[in-house]
Amino acid sequence: MSNGACLFCRIVAGEIPAKVVRQDEETVAFRDINPQAPVHVLVVPRRHIASVNALAAADAALVGALFLAAREIAAAEGLADAGYRLVMNTGPDAGQSVDHIHLHVLGGRHLGWPPG
Ligand code: 5GP
Ligand code: ZN
Repeated sequence: MSNGACLFCRIVAGEIPAKVVRQDEETVAFRDINPQAPVHVLVVPRRHIASVNALAAADAALVGALFLAAREIAAAEGLADAGYRLVMNTGPDAGQSVDHIHLHVLGGRHLGWPPG
């Protein structure tokens, strides 16, 4: 299932170019167009899911696949030892701007806490 109006569905379909760093049957990962850290990759499911709020129990393995992809990307980008942050913004207060679930992989600098 994909949504023709959705930016990340269009990236997954190859209709909009992106710097893809990793892909598998269930997920695609590409560099954020407006990076907030030296490494800023977005991991998305190929299937359109609007947000964490829209997840179903049957999506558990897919959510796991997003995290396992993020772990591989962090290792490949040399972040595993120094550390990195995985973020999934959900809804207006968190600043979610694309309604297709995505896991941010951020690293390569010290990341402040708490976030803004
Ligand atoms: P959110 O704010 O929803 O958590 O994250 C959406 C992210 O998508 C933002 O970090 C934004 O920079 C990124 N983004 C928006 N449009 C594009 C695009 O066309 N290509 C890529 N690669 N990233 C995008
Ligand atoms: Zn989508």
